[in-house]
This record gives sequence, C-alpha cells and structure tokens, in this order.
Amino acid sequence: MTSTADPALKSLRTQLSGAVLTDGEPGYDVARSVWNGEIDRRPAVVVRPAGPADVATALAYAREAGLDVSVRGGGHNFGGAAVVEGGLCLDLSSLAAITVDPDGRTARCGGGTTWAQLDAATQAYALAVPGGTVSHTGVGGLTLGGGFGWLTGKHGLSCDNLLSAELVTADGEILRVSAEEHPDLFWALRGGGGNFGVVTEFEFRLHPVGPVVHLGLLFYGLDDGVAVLRHARELLRTLPGELGVLVAGLNAPPAPFVPEAFHFRPGYAVLIAGFDGEEQHAGAIEAARSGPAPLFEFVSPIPYVELQRLIDGAAPWGILGYEKAAFAEEFTDEVIQVIADFLPRKSSPMSIMPIFALRGAFAEAADDGTAFGGARRTCLAVNIAALAAEPEPFAADRAWVREFWTALAPLSANAGGYVNFMAEYEADRVRTSYGPGKYERLARIKAAYDPRNVFHHNANIPPAP
Ligand SMILES: Cc1cc2nc3c(=O)[nH]c(=O)nc-3n(C[C@H](O)[C@H](O)[C@H](O)COP(=O)(O)OP(=O)(O)OC[C@H]3O[C@@H](n4cnc5c(N)ncnc54)[C@H](O)[C@@H]3O)c2cc1C
Repeated sequence: MTSTADPALKSLRTQLSGAVLTDGEPGYDVARSVWNGEIDRRPAVVVRPAGPADVATALAYAREAGLDVSVRGGGHNFGGAAVVEGGLCLDLSSLAAITVDPDGRTARCGGGTTWAQLDAATQAYALAVPGGTVSHTGVGGLTLGGGFGWLTGKHGLSCDNLLSAELVTADGEILRVSAEEHPDLFWALRGGGGNFGVVTEFEFRLHPVGPVVHLGLLFYGLDDGVAVLRHARELLRTLPGELGVLVAGLNAPPAPFVPEAFHFRPGYAVLIAGFDGEEQHAGAIEAARSGPAPLFEFVSPIPYVELQRLIDGAAPWGILGYEKAAFAEEFTDEVIQVIADFLPRKSSPMSIMPIFALRGAFAEAADDGTAFGGARRTCLAVNIAALAAEPEPFAADRAWVREFWTALAPLSANAGGYVNFMAEYEADRVRTSYGPGKYERLARIKAAYDPRNVFHHNANIPPAP
C-alpha cells in the first residue's frame, strides 16, 4: 500500500489539478471498481486527471515510482484491463466534458465519457455518433477497439467516425492526432486499442439520427433455433444494409415489452432497428415475419436514446462476466448447428449470445483504412458471454463459453475475434484478430510512440524490435 505520507506522492498531489486517491481515501473504492464484479484490484494510486497535463504528470510519476499503468475509460473491459493491482490507474471518468457543434456536425468528448452521456448531448440536436449497444460502456475503449452497434450498417464503426484525438504519449507529449497530424498514429488509434497513449479527448463526425427511430423485436422458442437462424441468414442477404440487425440467444427479460408468460423464457431474438422512416422498417419486419412464428413480438417507434439503453439491464454493473468471440462469414449450416447445440446448455439465465450483423457502411469501408481487426466485408461478430450474479452458474457458464467457442472457432473467418470482446488477452488471439499485415504495422507504430510498452494492460501489441 502506498503511504499517503510518501513525499513523491505528496508532490504529485501538489502538481496535479485533478485528484489523487489511495487506499482508504473517500472515492478510492468507486474509482477502482469496474463493470465486471469478478475484478477486485487495488491500485497503489488512482489519478483522476483534470486534463492532458495531469495525465503527463501522472505518467512521469509512475515511471519514477516504477508503477505499472492502466487506463480506465468506462471500465467495461471484461478482464478488468482498466485497473492494475499495485500500480497507477488513470481514471478518466473526470474527463467527460462534451461540446457539440450542430452546424459543423462534430462533437468533442473527454476520454472517460460514457455513451449515455454522449448520446444525451448529441440527441439534443437529433444527431449521433455510432456507438455500442449498452449505454453505460465507455466511448474510450469501445472506439479505440473499433466499436459497433445499431448504427454500424448506416454509418460505420465508432472509429470510422473519429475525426481527431488529443493524446498523451508514454513520454508525456501532448499530441493532436488526425488524418493530417500524425496520420500513422491516427490509423492505429482506429482499432488498435489503448496501445498508443492516453486519449484525453475524442472528436467525432455526427449524423442526423432520430430523435425517434424504429425497433422490431421478434422472439422465438429455443427449439426453433435451426429454423430461426436459417431464416436470419436469408433476411441478412436481403434486408437493406443500413438497418441495424442483432440476433441474440438469451432468456427473455422481465421487461414491460415482454408478455409476462414469456419472462425468463430461453430462446432467440431477432432485433431490427431502422433509421430511415416507418415504411422501410415495416418492410423489414414483414420480411422477418415470413419465417417461423415468433412467441411474441414488439414493434414500435422508439427514441434513439431508449434504443441505446434497450439492453442495459441485461448486463448491469457488478455482474460476474466472461466472454469470447469470433467472426463468422454468415449463418452457415455448420455454424447454426453449433449454436443450436450449445445455446440450450447455458446455466445462468443472464448468459447471452449476441450476434452483431456487420453490413452496409461497415463493409463499404476500406479494409486497410483503419486498424480495425476483422475484414471489412459483410459478416457476423458472434459473442458468447457468461453473465451471472452468483459464482455457481458463473463457473459453469465460463466453461460453457470456452467449449462453445472451441466448437465455433474452426468454422469462423477470424477465430481471433474482436479485441473488444476478449476477457483474456492471449497474444496469439490478438495477432490473429488483426492478421499479420495490420499487426506488424501496429507493432511498428507502437515502437515509435511507446517503445517501453508502458501501455500494456490492453489487447497488447508489443513494440516491433
Ligand atoms: C455490457 C457490455 C456491452 C458491450 N457492448 C458492446 C457493443 O455493443 N459494441 C462494441 O463494440 N463493444 C461492446 N462492448 C465491449 C466494449 O467495447 C469494451 O469492453 C471496451 O473496452 C469498453 O470500453 P471502456 O472504456 O468502457 O473500457 P475500459 O475497461 O475502461 O477500457 C478498456 C481499455 O481501453 C483502453 N482505453 C479506454 N479508454 C481509453 C482512453 N481514453 N485512452 C486510451 N486508452 C483507453 C485502455 O487500454 C483500457 O484498458 C461491451 C462491453 C460490455 C461490458
């Protein structure tokens, strides 16, 4: 435990405009908490910077004190990469200021902003940045690893919409990074994760969205798995690419839009979000209805901010979580069979298998235009997540995730999966995720900006020799 009387720490406190928290001080336990309730790490020091200069000062202190550094955006990495035992945690929740330029259609936000905060600010002008599907996740980690959600088909990944970033390097240099300034670093930031520095501010392109959009949810029984997934395959071949489509294996939540008889019923959901008016969405729902009969459905206009919160309750703060993921080309018969075999075997009602259909604008982007790991063609990101409030079903479902993924991996286009869906960072999976070309380019950029690998509590790309 770092002593609060430590002279170096005292000096750090006087140099910073932001806060320093150590064990026992008010706020320390909140600052070290992350979304996954399984993670319980005690950093020696937590710094809540007031701006980039504070970040540089904290990094210099960590170097002098020989402390490992972690960066906490929204705290949602499943493995708890945001906190490091006995090290220095830069808790960026203090950097959440947002400015929206509705005429220029850009928004700037601090490196620790959550999607709920950014969506609220941009929706005041009926504008949005494509984000994820759970509003309490951080803009930071999600964007730096890529970031997909409801708007990906229409406007691409979160990182595709990044215009510039303010970044503090491992050596404390404060850089503005964009297509014009440090273009190599700008490429790496869009998919390469937290490897290259601390982003204190993101600048995004905004798109007109809502404020009211359209949602359709069709829920099917567990026994209909093969038929439902074959139907989803046909739908994905024909539906317009700009619709947001999510196929999930889950237990129906006890939500107001679920008839009581089906609360907690295991099964499959096909969710379709439309952003281009009622007619287009109604056409997609009609197509969805042409398959097996759903147990129930919910089709309604919905405020965009509500869509962004729709599945928040399925993954609350403090839950125990473990995940693995893989990219698949599509719902081939073999992929469908693995899913239909494994989904019924989960133990915890909260464990979930969300499958993100990556299409439209996602697939139109150039493969080497960003560092995003995963090819830019129409495909599926299959996530298998163990979620439970209690240790017993959690242990069983951790094994379920591993077995499920092991069966799926040989059938997948990229078994490395998505760097943001890794509860454990195995080096070979990170390399597989990026593929050799991108990985080597990232490693060279890492060597230029972080040769000592200060930022390694992440999907780490060690610097090229
Ligand atoms: C419930 C839940 C739902 C999710 N849904 C989606 C989804 O719909 N789509 C999707 O794409 N992903 C989704 N994810 C995955 C998500 O993208 C990752 O967990 C991501 O790491 C979350 O970012 P964070 O800032 O909250 O995480 P943190 O744990 O705070 O950060 C993870 C890592 O990112 C880096 N980092 C974060 N912020 C910064 C910064 N400002 N500067 C430098 N490095 C930084 C650090 O290396 C850190 O270790 C979800 C995760 C959860 C838990």
